[in-house]
Amino acid sequence: MTAAPGDLRCYDRSRIAELASESIIIFDSDRRVRYWNPAAERLFGWPFLAMQGSEITDLSPSPAEEQCAWSQLVQEGWWQGRVCRRARNGRVVVADVRRHLRYDETGAHHDTIEFARPATEAEGADAEVGPVPDEIMAASWEIDISPALEIVARLGARASLAGDGEREKLCLRLVECARIVEVNERTARLVGGNRGRALMAGQSVAAFWPVESRAILAELILEALAAEPGTTCSRRLASDGILRDPLVSVWRAGPERPARLFVAVSGAADDDRSYLFLRASEARYRKLVDYMPVALWQVDASHMGKIYAQLRADGVVDFERYLEQHPELVERAASTVPVTDVNRRAIELVGGAGVHDLTRPVGYLFSESPASLRRVMIGRFTGQKNYNELMKLRTLDNRVLDVLFSVTYPEPRVELDTTIFSFEDVTDRLRMETQLRQLQADFSHAARVSMLGELTSSIAHEVNQPLAAIVTNAETSLRWLAHDDPDTGKIAQLTERIAASARRADNIVQRVRRMAVKQTPDPVELPFNEILQESLLFVRHEIETRSVRVSTSYARGLPRVVGDRIQLQQVIVNMLINAVQAVEDRDEAEREIAIATGSDEKGNPLFTLRDRGPGIAADHLDHIFDGFFTTKAQGMGIGLAICRSIVEAHGGAISASNRPGGGAEFRVVLPRAGDYMAVEPVVGNVHRGFGGNALNAT
Ligand code: ADP
Repeated sequence: MTAAPGDLRCYDRSRIAELASESIIIFDSDRRVRYWNPAAERLFGWPFLAMQGSEITDLSPSPAEEQCAWSQLVQEGWWQGRVCRRARNGRVVVADVRRHLRYDETGAHHDTIEFARPATEAEGADAEVGPVPDEIMAASWEIDISPALEIVARLGARASLAGDGEREKLCLRLVECARIVEVNERTARLVGGNRGRALMAGQSVAAFWPVESRAILAELILEALAAEPGTTCSRRLASDGILRDPLVSVWRAGPERPARLFVAVSGAADDDRSYLFLRASEARYRKLVDYMPVALWQVDASHMGKIYAQLRADGVVDFERYLEQHPELVERAASTVPVTDVNRRAIELVGGAGVHDLTRPVGYLFSESPASLRRVMIGRFTGQKNYNELMKLRTLDNRVLDVLFSVTYPEPRVELDTTIFSFEDVTDRLRMETQLRQLQADFSHAARVSMLGELTSSIAHEVNQPLAAIVTNAETSLRWLAHDDPDTGKIAQLTERIAASARRADNIVQRVRRMAVKQTPDPVELPFNEILQESLLFVRHEIETRSVRVSTSYARGLPRVVGDRIQLQQVIVNMLINAVQAVEDRDEAEREIAIATGSDEKGNPLFTLRDRGPGIAADHLDHIFDGFFTTKAQGMGIGLAICRSIVEAHGGAISASNRPGGGAEFRVVLPRAGDYMAVEPVVGNVHRGFGGNALNAT
């Protein structure tokens, strides 16, 4: 039985399996080989074409043991252990294999995937089992000799005689009558011209087989037909201009296909440029992956796919909640999902001695960030294509790295269920970012303190007012007490006023203090209008002493914003001071500021500040948010730059324009609470908490 061509094409597309250093074999539900990658050809010596459709147990020297392993696979869904297989050169290859059953969408058993490595690799022995490059490049043929059976019979009847001209003719005739069933890519490249594999099928073997060795092929065919099943008959030929010292091997396909034979020709090609070119390009591709500066892990989570399918069938929709209730499933993934291959950078990154240090269950990758594995599983369950996040990785030599971790999930049926993990060490980058954020924080704090400096007289005035009230009320109270019959009701009233004024003074001091001290930003949901009202308190005195009229218009029912109260106040106070400064030299009629809140077309809260000042010169409009841009004699030019970095770190936008009737207009839009997402300053699409540039400014 052979696999449907559609299926094969599908598997052929999987570059990873073709280039994997591990043997990968796919069996259909009858245990017949459907796919056999080049590493499997290398390990077991059999070309794919010979194995396609055959039962793997036929290669086992101990079928009973093999049978037992398959029964366990069916019961458990996966199996891991050691198997022995007869290779084409007659030796027995011992391999460590893992097998997983795979299921289709309906939950029915679809096929089995097997990964294998030579067992000797682990024991560090027998170099002979290593790669044999020319063997991999065997050109394979499946041929049908049924149209030549009569010739075979006649040849069988004649004893082989040197110089027997009649026999030689019959031999050539045999090769002419033999038909090609299928050839592999290598055969097509070597002798097919540009006809391709499909066009070779059905044609005479003689149309493609070199004339000088046709008789030898015929003799090998006769030998193979007469030999015991499973015997390989080989002959080394003289170089034929295509291959150097080719070795031709012929063997029977099996009892159920008596007229079918397999032919494999191994040997180094020295003339076929495209053939060599392809070999070189495959090697280059493999090298490229191996030397890529990103650490790559190939992971086989196929058996988890079965569990997910079952859970879905059982009606589990909220997988995140399910995992919270069943943490053992995460444990299970950590201890049973194996890493099947890694590249050099991976070994360097985690400090292992070789591939074998890293090809074990994935748990070791998540020892520092167990929740990351959970998120990887959720990504697969919910059908994402990729997932990435920043996480901590503990190396084998016990260093802890900050890494950007990315997962590429397999596309069902195309990628052989291979998941790829990549890790990029971003420890240094994050350290630099932290330093940068610290600098920005210091800068922003310095600007705030300097802003408070500008407001000293306002603050003094603010505090003075309740203090003056306390003094007045205390004196009045004393006067009442001096009466012979003090009015205790009146005194109590005055004392209450004293306490209220003291509280007000305390509030002002606290407010200024909060603005002045350095503290970690505290993002909370805030009512937009309230931030504005509080900010106005800081500049009330400036406004009053300069006879500036302020009109306010607060929209009702505005959504909340998420942010740090002090930082947002810093933005608004800064803009208010600028507006007051812009109008203070105008005629009294023009000393006007209008503040309004509202929402933009997407429903995000916005705030506008309009003044009747001179406006902003057209060629300054693009620069006022730049650091150190100022048009004022005493200005520093950092206020608006800090406003912008704070607003952007909150995911919002700030802009300035000139009003048609004169004066400037500033507009700040912030995302409403539900839509809030911290912006990513440097590292691309990663999950992060509240962070980013100036938000960490304190
Ligand atoms: P500074 O106030 O120290 O100059 P800012 O960064 O706050 O620093 O402002 C930068 C510049 O933007 C100001 O120097 C001024 O030219 C312009 N600007 C800011 N606000 C206004 C405004 N309301 N009207 C006109 N120009 C303004």
